[in-house]
Amino acid sequence: MSNKFVGAHVSASGGVFNAPLNAMAIHAKAFALFTKNQKQWAAKPLDDETIALFKDNLAKSGILPKHVLPHDSYLINLGHPEEEKRQKSLEAFIDETRRCAQLGLDRLNFHPGSHLKQISEEECIDRIASSMNETLKVTDGVSLVIENTAGQGSNLGWRFEHLAAIIDRIEDRSRVGVCIDTCHMFTAGYDIRTPEAYEATWNEFERIVGFKYLMGMHINDSKPDLGSHVDRHDSIGKGKLGIEPFRYIMNDPRMDDIPLVLETIDETIWAQEIELLYSLQA
Ligand code: ZN
Ligand code: MN
Ligand code: MN
Repeated sequence: MSNKFVGAHVSASGGVFNAPLNAMAIHAKAFALFTKNQKQWAAKPLDDETIALFKDNLAKSGILPKHVLPHDSYLINLGHPEEEKRQKSLEAFIDETRRCAQLGLDRLNFHPGSHLKQISEEECIDRIASSMNETLKVTDGVSLVIENTAGQGSNLGWRFEHLAAIIDRIEDRSRVGVCIDTCHMFTAGYDIRTPEAYEATWNEFERIVGFKYLMGMHINDSKPDLGSHVDRHDSIGKGKLGIEPFRYIMNDPRMDDIPLVLETIDETIWAQEIELLYSLQA
């Protein structure tokens, strides 16, 4: 039995209850989904029938709730420099957190936020953490999982120090985690292409953030090069990372029992990519 839980960010079109079925169809053991249209602010509440059907289908898939990593809307910026817009993001984020709880899920993945060149990094980090603390106060059972970014534009969260600084400001650290995206990590400047680079990068991660916070990963190859700060994913083995880093991950017990989610560009080969990843295990 493998201790790795690999899947993909599957479609939830037609209803969230379709996501577990879409995961099953590609033999996934984990998956990500949007619990609402990720390009719109408002969503109609989840009704009881939808929730029951989601839970039924999830049980059918054999995938455990802890191996599902919902992703929030791209519109949300918890560190927005303008208070009115931060509030709007916060409200949407609280709603997303509640939707996860309703679906019986225990974690929500999000991008920390952007300073939009209007406030300092420090101030933006303060705002992100405040938004998270406010969310934790009014919700239950769902951990907030901060994703590392490529550092494109004014996006925070590309340095491990940013993730640590946010966690540092969280009042209830039992409900905070991180999701490391391999493409973002690489284009942010963290190399993982050789055994030595891989070890050095993860040692730095352990020292600054800590593996105890690792609640998921996004498994993507990268079109742009190391340190380019450009966020463009590629299919596994076809980008600048190549296949080796994924072999290291698939054989690294520190990535056991968390969702490992493909966000690669060609969804028609997700089933093959999942198979390929499992084939890398020694
Ligand atoms: Zn993301
Ligand atoms: Mn990602
Ligand atoms: Mn990305």
